[in-house]
Amino acid sequence: MAFEGLGERLQATMDRIKSKGKVTESDVKVMMREVRLALLEADVNFKVVKQFINQVKERALGSDVMQSLTPGQQVIKIVKEELTDLMGGDNQKINLANKPPTVIMMVGLQGAGKTTTAGKLALHLRKKFNKKPLLVAGDIYRPAAIDQLETVGKQIDIPVFNMGDQVKPQEIVTKAMSHAKEQHLDTVIIDTAGRLHIDEHLMNELKEIKDIAEPDEIMLVVDSMTGQDAVNVAETFNELLDITGVTLTKLDGDTRGGAALSIRSVTEKPIKFIGMSEKMDGLEAFHPDRMAQRILG
Ligand code: GDP
Repeated sequence: MAFEGLGERLQATMDRIKSKGKVTESDVKVMMREVRLALLEADVNFKVVKQFINQVKERALGSDVMQSLTPGQQVIKIVKEELTDLMGGDNQKINLANKPPTVIMMVGLQGAGKTTTAGKLALHLRKKFNKKPLLVAGDIYRPAAIDQLETVGKQIDIPVFNMGDQVKPQEIVTKAMSHAKEQHLDTVIIDTAGRLHIDEHLMNELKEIKDIAEPDEIMLVVDSMTGQDAVNVAETFNELLDITGVTLTKLDGDTRGGAALSIRSVTEKPIKFIGMSEKMDGLEAFHPDRMAQRILG
């Protein structure tokens, strides 16, 4: 399960301080050293850790906390609040257009979970908002990607717009937009190409698709198992495409969790969803406070 190591370490540290009727400055410092190590071990970005620790320390050492009746519990509360803040505070919803169609562009590296998440989102939007989505097969370089999207579409009974792999993605997207209009489909979800690494050709193609489709949501899909890499990928995609949201996949695996804790702070873009299984219903809205609670037990 995600966050296991981090959770255990933090809980042990918290338990030690919880019952203390009197907390000294040195108790807080020792505790912060433990929290710092736990976060670094969980692969949280070191700059993020530093800032986090400083913020908690400043608040925890305030006289109102130190002189309260339950200083241990106050410090724990501060850690929880700051963790929640670090992950973006409130849940951020997916952007929907005031006037249809809503256009969602899925981007990310190969294997991150783009195609799977495109299907999950289509299902989510139909269930929750009664939307009529169209899935667009825009990844022409990995032939299996088109078949995979077709399979996903069949599984959840959502139409897939597919022009094969001999037409440029820019043209596919242009045609898909008219097709959606003709068919009265109010949500267009575009699956785009991924690579193993970010390269210029891919980014130019994605920028052109962005100009054509004018998406309401550019959803970056990142694999939480890749730790710091996930954060670097998020930073680069954000610089080049100005993403609007992140879906963090594979949180059902034994990821150490660092990506969840760093991405928001590094990119200033919200994690909107998390992937909790390979299945089509395995998508959850991301709630920073619930995640903080889960980490702290
Ligand atoms: P793409 O190359 O970005 O389109 O990635 P895919 O959608 O093909 O996903 C790559 C692999 O990750 C597939 O085997 C998916 O079933 C799996 N996957 C995607 N999201 C999740 C998730 O949230 N949890 C788990 N356990 N597996 C996932």
